[in-house]
Amino acid sequence: MTRRRRRFARLALPFVVVLAVALAAYLVGPGSAVWAKPHKVDGENFPAGRLPQEIVDNEYPRTYFPTTEKVGKDEMRIVALGTGMPNQSPSNYAACFFVELGNGEAFLFDLGTGASDNLAALQPDYSKVDKVFASHLHTDHVGDLASLWVAGWLNGRYTPLHVYGPSSSAPELGVKAHVDHISQAWAWDVTSRAGTLPDAGGQLVAHEFDFAKTAVVYDENGVKVTSWPAIHVRDGSVSYRLDWNGLSFVFGGDSAPNQWFLEEAKGADVVVHECFFTPEQWMKISGFPYKEAYWVTSVIHTPAQSFGKIMSAVEPRMAVAYHYWNHRDLEFEIYEGVRETYDGPLTMADDLTVWNVTKDHIEVREVSIDHDCWPQGTSTEWDTAPRSAPATGLMSQWLKDGAREDMIIPPTQPLE
Ligand SMILES: [Zn+2]
Ligand SMILES: [Zn+2]
Repeated sequence: MTRRRRRFARLALPFVVVLAVALAAYLVGPGSAVWAKPHKVDGENFPAGRLPQEIVDNEYPRTYFPTTEKVGKDEMRIVALGTGMPNQSPSNYAACFFVELGNGEAFLFDLGTGASDNLAALQPDYSKVDKVFASHLHTDHVGDLASLWVAGWLNGRYTPLHVYGPSSSAPELGVKAHVDHISQAWAWDVTSRAGTLPDAGGQLVAHEFDFAKTAVVYDENGVKVTSWPAIHVRDGSVSYRLDWNGLSFVFGGDSAPNQWFLEEAKGADVVVHECFFTPEQWMKISGFPYKEAYWVTSVIHTPAQSFGKIMSAVEPRMAVAYHYWNHRDLEFEIYEGVRETYDGPLTMADDLTVWNVTKDHIEVREVSIDHDCWPQGTSTEWDTAPRSAPATGLMSQWLKDGAREDMIIPPTQPLE
């Protein structure tokens, strides 16, 4: 097809889809479930009424509207879902990067407090969002695990949620203990949904590995994820590198500059590393005294000038700075701090920055989200996945007896 025809086909497709959906709605009538069901495009679920387009010749639209673009078969799409701090700000949720590959797989690197809200704004196919790689167990890196566990289950995941993460100096400090305790802490929630939702989707599975080793911790479908130790307060913090199809993504968990990062991240395509405040900046923001501010910013974290030195050594195709508040009072100071020691390709990440990565191109844009969007709805696979009988004995008889049957709306369709 000529380029002009391709362009015409691309422009015409959304109108054809809208017409087809409108026709289906007209034929089926109002109140039908047709609107709530996703439809499949190359095996992936998309919201009704949306047909994602393939981007050709790197002609990316200025803004990325979720669910409108296909990940190319040789492409990696990365979205920053959280770039901020544990002491929260609505402008920057806590650490989280979402990586989607052309082979259909999706990976979350950390899932800090608030970040699952930005994930929901992407209206993803939640049946594929089933892997979280945790760098360490601070709330700004794993605080939303329980939210995704349950929200993903409600929104289409019918298989377990897998959490990969490091061991520590004692079993009770590792990711397995953390995940097991989340399961126990949310027993009321999860058992209340049993029987209504698919059984397997309610499982939260930990994959703990030795934090001290540089080793491959995931190797499936041509995707390798390697972990190595990071220097952050105590034993049990790591960084990751994902390699697939000749492309690489590095995610630095919290760390002071360290030798392993320089070795493992060297020459990767997209390298994400924390870029913290200086002691003076942190004192201004937080009110911390100097001693505590120095410890936090310069001993257990990496301020901007050190971030720049790391990137000058690693030489990525794109350096990505995060883990600060991108607020007007300090954003330029932090940028200038980086530029004192690094002059290569750079993104000062914000929440909902998106990178499309191929072998010959990296596109950096913003995601434009619909604040009123709903999840795309459950799929037929979710609807028909095995379920136990609904749990019994969850409510005392006297409580049940208090129901006002005369005010409950009876079913209008058969329940069996
Ligand atoms: Zn931390
Ligand atoms: Zn952190």
